[in-house]
Amino acid sequence: MQHVPADLPKRIQHFIDGEFVDSLDGDTFEVLDPVSNTAYLEASSGKRADVDRAVTAARKAFDDGPWPGMLPRERARVLNKIADIVETRNERLAELETFDTGLPITQALGQAKRAAENFRFFADLVVAQADDTYKVPGKQVNYVNRKPKGVAGLITPWNTPFMLESWKLAPALASGCTVVLKPAEFTPLSAGLWPEIFREAGVPDGVFNIVNGFGEEAGDALVKHEDVQLISFTGESATGQQIFANAAPTLKALSMELGGKSPAVVFADADLDAAIDSTVFGVFSLNGERCTAGSRVLVERGIYDEFVRRYVERANNVRVGDPHDPATEVGALVHPEHHEKVTRYIELGKTEATLAAGGERPEGLESGNYVQPTVFIDVPPTARIFQEEIFGPVVAITPFDSDEEAVRLANDTKYGLAAYVWTSNLERAHNVGQRIDAGMVWLNSHNVRDLRTPFGGVKASGLGHEGGYRSLDFYSDQQAMHISL
Ligand code: NAD
Repeated sequence: MQHVPADLPKRIQHFIDGEFVDSLDGDTFEVLDPVSNTAYLEASSGKRADVDRAVTAARKAFDDGPWPGMLPRERARVLNKIADIVETRNERLAELETFDTGLPITQALGQAKRAAENFRFFADLVVAQADDTYKVPGKQVNYVNRKPKGVAGLITPWNTPFMLESWKLAPALASGCTVVLKPAEFTPLSAGLWPEIFREAGVPDGVFNIVNGFGEEAGDALVKHEDVQLISFTGESATGQQIFANAAPTLKALSMELGGKSPAVVFADADLDAAIDSTVFGVFSLNGERCTAGSRVLVERGIYDEFVRRYVERANNVRVGDPHDPATEVGALVHPEHHEKVTRYIELGKTEATLAAGGERPEGLESGNYVQPTVFIDVPPTARIFQEEIFGPVVAITPFDSDEEAVRLANDTKYGLAAYVWTSNLERAHNVGQRIDAGMVWLNSHNVRDLRTPFGGVKASGLGHEGGYRSLDFYSDQQAMHISL
């Protein structure tokens, strides 16, 4: 029997200037849950006119409201309140996120804490921020006048949606911007929690606005709006390319967190237990719908057979099932369209490499967006399953013979988001790690990072880095002021 959260809304509206409103043309779209694939919700489908209304509200709150001019300490107090409230919603958020996205409930339960941490972190950072002053001896003093950029357009994907929204909302609001958020159309449910949270924390009307809808309509209108100063986007690389082109006529600042096909490189001298734990976690946690998933595992030839044998055994034991069951490790993929995409890649993989685990719909789960954790071995680097982002619980394992070959294989895709290196040789760990074209490298570790570190990818995985002061810089203009002495 499927678990359905109590008091689910039947309708999700836009939130503009402190009010819940329908689309001006009354249009809506259906939202499915990934277990029954039936529509449980109608969401307002935003068009250009709705985006315009939201941007106008955000502009007014920016020009005439208190938010941009408040002392950083005052804004930080509100952000800390947001964090406190978010934490109290942990169970409700997890229940909604699991129902809407198919994420296993035990993994959804961490999301509120992580989202709250984003608000606390940027609250602290904006208070601690210092800007520089310079002296041209005998002539001038120069200083930096930091100002919020204006109206921030935030466009987010469907994987861990609430947490990823917080990664943009927190620095945008901390910097003094006003925002229009366009959540992913597959999963608008949890974003519906923000309006009450912000209201309760004392965010003034118009500072935070949501327009729901499709990327090609609501998202596109936000990107092209001349009164939006910046777009912070997380999503697929192909969408990022389109946004880049569409933002050109209005010359917007862009921050792009895009796709990945991240390598985990396992050397023969690695702590094999830890490497196997980590590489299993890396691609099967969050249903494999994780931007930094280690979806290519490169293994040194000397331990290849043993690694594969143990990895396959682990993959066969991963529990796939009802996302609300606490025993479940891989739930249902977010949407039938995505399920079809992942399934297509699995079928393609069967023609390109050797299937060693999974590859089918799990037994007993005849409906819903389920796939078995799937392992392909001996995957040649020319295979599409080696090159392309699948974004599901599917891993490609490939052997290598030398450090040189490991680096070459690691870099042999268009992506460059994350990489993982497993070896007990400290020098090799640093040397190999530094030569991999990836925005973020984990040595003998995964997942944990300090929020001050740069976050972002290189090559097709992104443009610009957020994290720490980089985020505040992105949402601010730094005006140089020059005074004669
Ligand atoms: P997507 O690109 O399909 O959609 C992301 C968002 O963009 C959605 O809100 C969508 O409505 C909107 N959108 C789509 N077309 C648009 C357009 N023409 N103009 C404006 N907005 C548009 O991505 P997705 O399938 O929702 O998310 C999965 C992708 O996100 C994967 O590639 C994953 O790697 C990536 N991702 C990256 C990171 C990161 O930090 N690098 C984090 C999470 C997810």
